[in-house]
Amino acid sequence: DHLVNQIAAGEVVERPASALKELLENSVDAGSRTIQIELQAGGTKLIKVIDDGCGIEHDDLSLALHRHATSKIRDFDDLGRVATLGFRGEGLASIASVSRLALTSRAEGAAHAWRIESDNGRLHDPVPAALAAGTTVEVHDLYYQTPARRKFLKSESTEFAHCDDMVKRIALAHPEVQFALTHNGRALARLLRGDLARRAGAILGEDFVAHALPVDEGFERLRLTGFAGSPTQGKSSRDAQYFFVNGRFVRDKLVQHALREAYRDVLHHERHPAYCLFLEMAPEGVDVNVHPTKIEVRFRESQALYRFLLTALKKALSGAKA
Ligand code: ADP
Ligand code: MG
Repeated sequence: DHLVNQIAAGEVVERPASALKELLENSVDAGSRTIQIELQAGGTKLIKVIDDGCGIEHDDLSLALHRHATSKIRDFDDLGRVATLGFRGEGLASIASVSRLALTSRAEGAAHAWRIESDNGRLHDPVPAALAAGTTVEVHDLYYQTPARRKFLKSESTEFAHCDDMVKRIALAHPEVQFALTHNGRALARLLRGDLARRAGAILGEDFVAHALPVDEGFERLRLTGFAGSPTQGKSSRDAQYFFVNGRFVRDKLVQHALREAYRDVLHHERHPAYCLFLEMAPEGVDVNVHPTKIEVRFRESQALYRFLLTALKKALSGAKA
């Protein structure tokens, strides 16, 4: 089982940023209002996520670190329509199998918190701990006993940059949650709760929001909302292209192609537009399980989706021109 976990870990936990993604998605799924992230050495030494979500009951604590233990699906049919971000039940188990992990949690109504530690997949018994509410996960020394994987990690600054990107993606998708990020003890970002405009301003720049066009188009069960930036505002780049499908960040050829075509048709300009767009669609229409860490998806009716995206964005872009 340990080996299975480690192999799965290779898939799920490519690098600190992918571990961070699993932890942040869990915190969001737990209904947290505030999430605090502390990183050391680009996340290779420490990834700590402190949330104020629903917490985990004592009896479920060690279960949470077991593979395929998820509280989020009950039967196979659920797989097709999961609303929560995580659902494979392998995030924590995978991370725990290649790190020293501590999970401290206090369920709502519990007299006190419990803490469970795992050393490279070996679980200790839960012990009482002090924590006001929510869950704190500490991941120390990722891949410390797996040198073959460890050597694939890049420099501290590169790993940090990946973590930072991950925080931005999740924070954009959840403006209702406050995020704070520190790296090597230095406070870097504090994103206050607010609406999307405020969150996008904090992440993509106030300039972006000031010049971007609001998008809100629907057709049948498809809906596109968010902001499309004008490419003439200078700062736009590939790093400022955020597209979410049912709350998940994706980078998809079909989507990029449709957006580029809309920009070209309306503004006669397609050079790396900046945008932050959210597509909502029936969960059955999109397969997000292509690969656990990949940001790719597979759309069932890709032609119809392409036409919708093109039409919706062209409408939004030309509305402002008129
Ligand atoms: P999954 O998210 O796919 O269910 P994970 O391994 O990521 O699997 O987490 C296992 C379980 O642990 C979750 O289903 C959830 O019940 C619990 N859990 C993990 N992190 C948190 C958290 N921050 N707050 C509350 N519960 C959590
Ligand atoms: Mg999860």
